[in-house]
Amino acid sequence: MKDTNINNGLWAATASGKPSLTSLVGEHKTEVAIIGGGYTGLSSALHLSLAGKSSIVLEANDVGFGGAGRNVGLVNAGLWLMPEDVIKLVGPDHGQRLIDILGASPDLVFGLIEKYKIPCEAWRHGTLHCADSKIGYKALQRREKQWVERGAPVRLLERDEAAEKTGSKAYIGALLDERAGTIQPLAYAYGLARAALDEGAQIYARSPVTSLERDGNAWRLTTPGGSVLSNAVIIAVQGYPEAAFKHQIRNMVPFNYFQFATSPLGKEILETVLPGRNGAWDTNLILSSYRLDALGRLIVGSVGNLEDFAMGLNRAWALRSIKKVFPQIGTVDLEYAWYGRIAMTTNHIPRFHILGENLAMVTCYNGRGIGPGTVFGKLLATYMMGGSPEEIPLPVSKITPVFMRGLRGLFYETGSRMYHLAQRLI
Ligand SMILES: Cc1cc2nc3c(=O)[nH]c(=O)nc-3n(C[C@H](O)[C@H](O)[C@H](O)COP(=O)(O)OP(=O)(O)OC[C@H]3O[C@@H](n4cnc5c(N)ncnc54)[C@H](O)[C@@H]3O)c2cc1C
Repeated sequence: MKDTNINNGLWAATASGKPSLTSLVGEHKTEVAIIGGGYTGLSSALHLSLAGKSSIVLEANDVGFGGAGRNVGLVNAGLWLMPEDVIKLVGPDHGQRLIDILGASPDLVFGLIEKYKIPCEAWRHGTLHCADSKIGYKALQRREKQWVERGAPVRLLERDEAAEKTGSKAYIGALLDERAGTIQPLAYAYGLARAALDEGAQIYARSPVTSLERDGNAWRLTTPGGSVLSNAVIIAVQGYPEAAFKHQIRNMVPFNYFQFATSPLGKEILETVLPGRNGAWDTNLILSSYRLDALGRLIVGSVGNLEDFAMGLNRAWALRSIKKVFPQIGTVDLEYAWYGRIAMTTNHIPRFHILGENLAMVTCYNGRGIGPGTVFGKLLATYMMGGSPEEIPLPVSKITPVFMRGLRGLFYETGSRMYHLAQRLI
């Protein structure tokens, strides 16, 4: 394997346009300080600049170090939950606005990619949610009905059409969502950063915020090399909280998701594997995802990490899974491996916290953060420019530690490991 960099794997090896950033030195002032350089923080900075406000992003590592540089790259429309469940959980007002705004979130993502000419392998050909069981197929029928009632271009494909679009006979059917697509996720983060810099924002890398304190009527953020005095602060650390925000991990159920990328597939094989370049995942509780990159590598992922013996177990699972789903590929090498931590909530709804005067965060996108991160970053910018909390279509909630959060994540990951192991024996 070329690269078992467990941080950003394939994405770090192939992303172009990495901005050259320095770390924060000395004292600075700004209108809005942003902690975290993933999609949420970078979108906030970009939209603040577009509105003529100054902002400084402080990133502990490099732009895209967290979920933004590790994910599958599926630009989905909406949350994991079906629309009716969203309404049940957050009420009709927040629920309907949340469904509308996240349903349209790929428009914002692909619109920014086009406007700023971000080179991030963007394909808006739709995604395929594939049924690998009768129960899964029924769930897709419900999902289709609920989205079609809302006018979304979503269509349930029967077995034959699903086989044609996926290039696999493994599925009973598949839900095609034409609003969605795929990107090179780290390259998109780099592009957002460059767009924000071009519009006037400041971004500092390797600048972890070690303390956040009130200083008169403002906030003072301290890093190892300097400090920033700011009227308002957006916290955008999501599943990778560090330094002053390490404790935020208690507020989420973290679980890991790994990915392996094959060597580029041959031209003829590529005509038979996801020939429309759709991103795909299945309805299994321990889900698996499949997509291609620009050079025709197949990227396969599932729940778990790649630490210690999990690397061997999950690598063997990935090879078996490719053989089962796409037998036409034959023998193939795995070139890259990486994994990341997904920030979940117990009810799969993201959280909106107001933590003090002009201090807020939206967090836990439950594994769907490309569209939501870009959207909530923009909405947080509007809120910090004097908007009302109602700008954010989520109820304001208090931070409450999740009971047995570690065990919940572990339970799911152990279940996944057992599942991957059991498949070896079948
Ligand atoms: C393996 C995996 C697969 C996923 N697949 C998909 C997918 O296919 N589609 C999709 O839409 N979403 C997916 N997601 C979710 C998506 O990646 C996240 O929701 C998204 O990256 C969140 O963006 P963010 O900007 O809020 O946070 P992040 O991208 O996690 O960025 C947070 C940043 O904050 C920084 N930070 C932390 N502490 C500090 C500090 N003290 N000071 C300064 N900076 C700090 C971190 O270094 C990090 O760079 C996936 C996530 C993972 C992990």
